[in-house]
Amino acid sequence: MGALKVSVVGAQPPIKAKMHPAKAIKPRAFLVMNSNQSGTLYIVATPIGNLGDMVPRAVETLQSVSVIACEDTRHSKKLLGHFSIDKPCIAYHDHADKKSSYKLIQRLLNGEDIALISDAGTPLISDPGYRLVSEARGQGVSVVPIPGACAAISALSVSGLPTDSFRFIGFLPAKTSQRKTALGELKTGAQTMVCYEAPHRVIETITDMIEIFGTDRPSFMAREMTKKFETYLHGTLEELLQQVSVDINQQRGEIVLVVGGDINSSEVISAEAERIIGLLIKELPLTKAASITAKITGGDKKQLYNLALSLQNK
Ligand code: SAM
Repeated sequence: MGALKVSVVGAQPPIKAKMHPAKAIKPRAFLVMNSNQSGTLYIVATPIGNLGDMVPRAVETLQSVSVIACEDTRHSKKLLGHFSIDKPCIAYHDHADKKSSYKLIQRLLNGEDIALISDAGTPLISDPGYRLVSEARGQGVSVVPIPGACAAISALSVSGLPTDSFRFIGFLPAKTSQRKTALGELKTGAQTMVCYEAPHRVIETITDMIEIFGTDRPSFMAREMTKKFETYLHGTLEELLQQVSVDINQQRGEIVLVVGGDINSSEVISAEAERIIGLLIKELPLTKAASITAKITGGDKKQLYNLALSLQNK
C-alpha cells in the first residue's frame, strides 16, 4: 500500500436517472481518501419489504461492480433477479471467518469495485459488514454508501416521539434476565429509544419494559413497514401491551419498537432544546419561550422554564 492521498476519484457508477431529462443527475466525482489503485467498497441499502423502495443508484451500483457480497446469497439472488442484476455473489458474514473479509480486501486493493448488501435495509445496521468496512478503511480503500431504507429510521420518522436525539439499541438480549439488565441501563436519559424485536418476543419485551420503565412511557410499534400488513400502534407502554396482547396479528412479522425517554431525567434538556430556548427568550416572555420549546422538542415545560430563568440570569 502506498501512502494515502486525498484524491478525486470518479468511481461513482453513472447515474441514468429516469426523471425529467432536464433534472437528470450527472455522474459526479467525489472527494474521498483513497489509494490510487484500489477499488471502491459500496455499502448498498436495499428495501425492507417493498421492492419499489430500491433506489435507482443502488441498481446501477450493483450492476457496475465486479462482485456482490451478500449476507445470504440465496435470499439476495431473488432481489437481484427482480432488477435483472446478473453479477457474481459471494456470502459475507462478519463472524464467518477472517478469510472472507481478507479476500474481499485483496480484491479491492487490486482495483475491483465491490458492493455489500444485507437481506434487507442498510448493511451494518444490526446486519453484517462492520469488519469489512473497518478493515477497508484501515487499508485506505474508499467506502461509499448508497443510502436507502432502514427500518429503525423509518419507524422513528413516523413515531411522533422526539427525534432530535435517540438511542439505537439494535436487538435487546433474547434472555429475560439479560434483557432486564440491558433495559435497566437504558432507564435514565431523555433520548428516545429504538430497538428491533422478534415477533415471538414482543410481548415479553414490552412487559419487561413496563417493569423497568413503568407503565406510562410513550411508545410506538411499527410492524411490517412497507408491506401488505403494515401497522402502526402507539400509546403508553401499558396501552401498547394491551393492543399487542389482544391481537395475535400484532405478534407476527417484523417489528420495530420506539419508546420515549425518561422525561424526569436530568438529561431531559437536549442541546437542541437549549439552543431553541436560548433564541426564544430574546424575543418572548419566559413562559411562552418554554412552552414553545416544549412543543417543538417534546421536553418538559417546567424544566425548560427553569433553564430559561437561568439563561436569562447569566
Ligand atoms: N439492516 C436492517 C435495516 O436497515 O433496517 C435491519 C436488519 S435486522 C437483522 C432485521 C430487523 O429489522 C427485523 O427483525 C425488524 O426488527 C426490523 N425490520 C426490518 N424490516 C422491517 C419492516 N419492514 N418493518 C418493521 N421492522 C422491520
